Amino acid sequence: MGIGEEADPIPNPLHREPPRIHRLDEAVVNRIAAGEVIQRPVSAVKELVENSIDAGSSSITILVKDGGLKLIQVSDDGHGIRYEDLPILCERHTTSKLSKFEDLLSMKSMGFRGEALASMTYVGHVTVTTITEGQLHGYRATYKDGMMDQEPKACAAVKGTQIMVENLFYNMAARRKTLQNSADDYPKIVDLICRFAIHHINVSFSCRKHGSARADVHSVAMSSRLNALRCVYGVSVAQNLIHLEVSDDDPSSSSFEVNGFISNSNYISKKTTMILFINDRLVECGSLKRAIEIVYAATLPKASKPFIYLSIKLPPEHVDVNVHPTKREVSLLNQEIVIEKIQSSIESKLRNSNESRTYQEQRVDSSPCVSVPESRDSPNHPSSSGSKLQKIPVNKMVRIDSQDPAGRLHAYLQVKQPTQQQGGSRLTSVRSSIRQRRNPRETADLSSIQELLGEIDSTCHSELLDIVGHCSYIGMADDVFALLQHNTHLYLVNVINLSKELMYQQVLRRFAHFSAIQLSDPVALQELIKLALKEEDPNPEDNENDDLKEKISEMNTELIKQKAEMLEEYFSIYVDPNGNLSRLPIVLDQYTPDMDRMPEFVLCLGNDVNWDDEKLCFQTIAAAIGSFYAFHPPLLPNPSSDGSKFYKGAPASAPDEENASSSADAEEGMKELLLEAESAWAQREWTIQHVLFPSMRLFLKPPISMATDGTFVKVASLEKLYKIFERC
Ligand code: ADP
Ligand code: MG
Repeated sequence: MGIGEEADPIPNPLHREPPRIHRLDEAVVNRIAAGEVIQRPVSAVKELVENSIDAGSSSITILVKDGGLKLIQVSDDGHGIRYEDLPILCERHTTSKLSKFEDLLSMKSMGFRGEALASMTYVGHVTVTTITEGQLHGYRATYKDGMMDQEPKACAAVKGTQIMVENLFYNMAARRKTLQNSADDYPKIVDLICRFAIHHINVSFSCRKHGSARADVHSVAMSSRLNALRCVYGVSVAQNLIHLEVSDDDPSSSSFEVNGFISNSNYISKKTTMILFINDRLVECGSLKRAIEIVYAATLPKASKPFIYLSIKLPPEHVDVNVHPTKREVSLLNQEIVIEKIQSSIESKLRNSNESRTYQEQRVDSSPCVSVPESRDSPNHPSSSGSKLQKIPVNKMVRIDSQDPAGRLHAYLQVKQPTQQQGGSRLTSVRSSIRQRRNPRETADLSSIQELLGEIDSTCHSELLDIVGHCSYIGMADDVFALLQHNTHLYLVNVINLSKELMYQQVLRRFAHFSAIQLSDPVALQELIKLALKEEDPNPEDNENDDLKEKISEMNTELIKQKAEMLEEYFSIYVDPNGNLSRLPIVLDQYTPDMDRMPEFVLCLGNDVNWDDEKLCFQTIAAAIGSFYAFHPPLLPNPSSDGSKFYKGAPASAPDEENASSSADAEEGMKELLLEAESAWAQREWTIQHVLFPSMRLFLKPPISMATDGTFVKVASLEKLYKIFERC
């Protein structure tokens, strides 16, 4: 519009005359309404799939082209649509599911407003092909703007209904543009179908991109929910889920049943997955999601977001399904009570699983870099972080999550009063430490331990002691060195050396007073030693030395068995009469060693321990435990540094038909391995900052040797740096 042209009556406070009100064109009204119901391609898919489920289908197939903008096609084997109903099928407010307003109170179907199909015809071209039972042929009809175009045509059809929506938003240029510019909806559609597939386990779903031979979701009707979860979300998710059941039957406050699966402390993800069905309707509930995230942040030490699948059943009259244009949100009676009860039962589940402290034994593998992805699928393959069930009291939690700094604040805001149980256990530990101080009988009895502790004191380097006691941790500089600041100096410190020494000193201090880590399955010493010998062997393929290895492992096992009583009493290392190892000491609270290093440790017990001299014996055992528990880099290469090459997928092979699927499998395996490595490295860094450094500040007495052996390297003096900057 040029300057000087007359403008439309823009509301102007000085303009007294009110603007004229006029009736909108019906087509405009309908298109506006349709745009609300069908906001994007994924909302159309949701409506169509819900219709198919409502029609009692047992198999639903979805085909999508161009993120759903070009084509969405949903085919089912449900009851079909009557010929007589076809003319009004796509008119607004035509439905077979609701006839009186009161019916809304007992709504069991997912649709009820008769708006979805109509809406699609206002913003796209709809074709319906359907056949009802007992008919010889089906019918096909096309629709536009709520109306059937012409008489339905007879056609061949298989059982059920197929609905095609083409050119979605062809008449809404702005929306089409926005959708075309943003990432396409296909991943959202796949995610949606995954959610349906784990709830409706009697229905098989398949979802495919047009032109692709492979379905991206393909679920078959499953016997159990956990199987469905495994099939859709993978073994790595399914193996880390806990079953949750909560119910309440107090008609005066709340009455509901919850059944679901929630992730345990081994599950690692940066994003919450929350799949919520209320009375079988897939919905969202922001307040429940936040409430659950708070429980996770406050209960588990890892900065992981949860995976949650919940199916909540309430009396239909307690749910208002009609509060959102797409029925995406529902409103519940007594929502706060329901949320609070779910929150507290999740919290107790997590605490229990954390407190039982049953550590899964790690698979001990001879090849450290497992490059056989298939092995991940073996049912008892624990992830490398699988054994680290840790618990940190809520009030000790300090976390930084660069991904979501604000999100982590929940943990602080919601600091709960310590429960009785927590209070109780804290009390016991205080009591036992007082008892220990008052009556240091055992430790005092053994003069050799006193001597070793004395040596730690006498060889302590006072300057280094000041550094570890008063430094701030800045971060890991590489896989081995951490960067510290002490006053105006920056230091690089070798985390492996420091942690080894800390563990050694703690073993001597806790001597005969260890709590234990229980392995869920005892491991045969002989097998562990054989594995360690193989790892040491430069030619492991050579079977030449097998007899020798067998002999060595047999002898070492015998030796350790003979010392079993002492190992148990003083070090909490339990070896049963058959030579199986089932218990290890807790040297640092909240820390479990990397079980992949167990073979090396057992070999070390057999080879490097001096069993003849009491003091030397304790010293060498403490050193062996120290090396085992030290913060070594995980065995999988670090994905965020040099190791990234390792995960770049399988070597490119000729993409012929046969190899295509196996290379896809290999790629999948690599991805899982990469995830595992990422989580192991992230976990290590977290533990270094939040467990190792705080403990070092309190307990480590750095020996003089550390000043010269490269454990501490002064890299810069900030004063000098400032001076240089000033001069510049
Ligand atoms: P609503 O689901 O709210 O009733 P819709 O516009 O989604 O409204 O569907 C209108 C009607 O069309 C439904 O009530 C149902 O009777 C029929 N219908 C839609 N899709 C299917 C299908 N896949 N199989 C059988 N009937 C269907
Ligand atoms: Mg519907």
